[in-house]
Amino acid sequence: MNDLDSKFVPEHIRNDILVKKILPSSVQLPDFQCPITGIPVRIRAVSTSVCESQRVLQHAKSAYDFSIRHLRDMGVSLHPPRTFRITLVCHPSKRFLPNGKIPLSPVHINGGVTSRSSNEAHSLVFRKEEMIKVMIHETIHAMRIPLCHTALDQNFEFLASEALVDALACEVYASYLESVFGFRNVRMVMQEHMKIQSDKVYTYLRYVNPHEHTSAFAYYVLKASIVTNADLMARLVFSLSDKDALVQLVKEACDRIAPVFYDSKGEDSLRMTPVFIEPYM
Ligand SMILES: [Zn+2]
Repeated sequence: MNDLDSKFVPEHIRNDILVKKILPSSVQLPDFQCPITGIPVRIRAVSTSVCESQRVLQHAKSAYDFSIRHLRDMGVSLHPPRTFRITLVCHPSKRFLPNGKIPLSPVHINGGVTSRSSNEAHSLVFRKEEMIKVMIHETIHAMRIPLCHTALDQNFEFLASEALVDALACEVYASYLESVFGFRNVRMVMQEHMKIQSDKVYTYLRYVNPHEHTSAFAYYVLKASIVTNADLMARLVFSLSDKDALVQLVKEACDRIAPVFYDSKGEDSLRMTPVFIEPYM
């Protein structure tokens, strides 16, 4: 399992897997051909039990198929690698805000990383929490959707592209949960949680420590500003290849972020979604 050496993988998770080997039960799907892009895809799950690995794989395959189809149906232009591997490590580590005044870093926030060459992409998801949503986020990276990644970011001090990728991932995930599991009000529930998360992270960055070694502002604050506004979300979906429109959209999303104060005493979880919309766990 390469890519575990990435600086984006928190050290305690890397050590648990490579040194302590606490997640030994790995199951792999046979390579399958992606029905939309035609490329070979391999998904592997690693957890403490074969049973869980199989369950995660079943949902991951279903979510992958849905996501690619849904992105295609939204008119998103996909630029797939020649082969695509996904590794899902079901580590129990949760996202959290630090107690002290230290900067936010990958250990608090990150859940996945994607490496991509012209031939191959590998997405590694390394927390069980929000695993499928993160897999969709990393799949979007792997498919190199125009302007979600590069040119946009030079206009801002933060990685605006991360907010757009995650907003799109949340939209795809919500559609998946509604279509495949029949859940209702998924977007409303997600948005309520996003507002709470956004307030917590914004408060931390503003009043505790403004520095971060990750993209917490983009992931949580800016993303929530986009997703909780129907107009911005609609424009995001229709502007994915239009850099100027996306820059304008990010500026408007920033304008929507109002100062808030959240008393975070005794409440340090950054949990994204309530349990009932993580149906695979
Ligand atoms: Zn990302």
